Amino acid sequence: RMYKQIRNAIWIVSLIVLALSLILIFGMSYRYFTGLQEKQLRTELELASKGIEISGVDYLADIAMDDYRLTWIEADGTVIFDNMAETQNMENHLERTEVKQAIETGYGTSSRYSKTLSEKQLYAAKKLSDGTVVRTSVSYATFWALMFAFGQAISAILIFVIIGSYAVALRISKNIVKPINNIDLDNPLGSGEMTGLEEIKPLLMRIEIQRNQHIRDNDEIEKASRIREEFTANVSHELKTPLHAISGYAELIVNGLTKEKDIVPFAGKIMEEAQRLTTLVEDIIELTKLDNGALDYCKEDVDLYRIAENTVDSLLTTAESRGIKIELEGEHAIISGIPKIIYSIVYNLVDNGIKYNQKNGSIKVSVFPSGGHTVLRVSDTGIGIPEDSIDRIFERFYVVDKSRSKEVGGTGLGLSIVKHGCIIHDAEMSVKSETGKGSTFTITF
Ligand code: ADP
Repeated sequence: RMYKQIRNAIWIVSLIVLALSLILIFGMSYRYFTGLQEKQLRTELELASKGIEISGVDYLADIAMDDYRLTWIEADGTVIFDNMAETQNMENHLERTEVKQAIETGYGTSSRYSKTLSEKQLYAAKKLSDGTVVRTSVSYATFWALMFAFGQAISAILIFVIIGSYAVALRISKNIVKPINNIDLDNPLGSGEMTGLEEIKPLLMRIEIQRNQHIRDNDEIEKASRIREEFTANVSHELKTPLHAISGYAELIVNGLTKEKDIVPFAGKIMEEAQRLTTLVEDIIELTKLDNGALDYCKEDVDLYRIAENTVDSLLTTAESRGIKIELEGEHAIISGIPKIIYSIVYNLVDNGIKYNQKNGSIKVSVFPSGGHTVLRVSDTGIGIPEDSIDRIFERFYVVDKSRSKEVGGTGLGLSIVKHGCIIHDAEMSVKSETGKGSTFTITF
């Protein structure tokens, strides 16, 4: 969970800050207390020295010091008085660092383990006017007791701060994560208004854009798969029709039910249907290739006029057999394209011009430049396309007149191939038609 991570980060940072400041505070207070203790020790020493100078042993007998040890040492090192130990058992103190220092310089300090009290002690000593030495000392235990008391107070604060910082971290992290949790993925921008967080607006914008794109992509995928399904169903239907016809005629012949004179026409029918089947399969294969984005094709410089010329040549016999004239006009024009597909486009348009023409009709194919583009125009004097069908003729398997299409060997796929080819070439396509007068297909590359 994100908020847990944020919470832990905040908490850890505050704990680190806390630990560092504690170390600092402890260090500083250690120094402060040590200094304080030394100062105190010195004050006590001064007081004791004054007292002894004035009233001698009487002063020592009178005072009651619990925290401080007071020792009075003769100039030869003999201990005359000690408020915390028996003097007669004590050895000569002349060699004690602080005493030695005091005899030499008048004042001495030292800190060491005391053999007499078996504790670590801090000492301060001072030489009096009569040559004797007064020494005060304090146990480190006293110091540590002070630090311990201090530490207890700090520990209490510490526990309080740790819990407190945890609670604060929890709250802050929840507040940070809250607007993010509140994002409505179906309406990200709306939820942005709600939380009022400017910082996450760009994020929400991104989400919105991607969401829209996602919806669009999904729509497209769905549409494409629907079209594919429809196409598959249509394909199997279209393939079955000629196959049924073929097997029907063949069966009649095989069963011997056919009159001798009918056999040849039946065989002709079979041939016709087989031809239809071939065209259909060829068209389907071509369309499928285009559907897959013509991946195995490569664009190159092609002469549109030369392709139109080839197409007209190969369709000339068919056209003549139906008494239709084809006229080609225009000039050479180089475009970037896939030769095979461009050939298909021209072929299907001219082929349609022949198939749906009238008696003694004609077709005009022209290639010409226009506004920086190259235009291919195929117009015929044919039967034309009814207005309500014009939008549908590019659909797969759509035919205006079933019987006429069958008669001329149409599959309903020709214009789908043209349309797809145009899309691959970024070409624009338009149709003008008038029933009974003819149609004009214009493609602008
Ligand atoms: P087909 O293989 O049946 O010709 P197309 O996809 O090429 O299939 O054409 C679809 C339908 O559009 C045709 O069946 C026909 O009715 C109509 N059509 C196409 N071209 C022409 C044209 N030049 N003149 C009249 N009708 C046409």
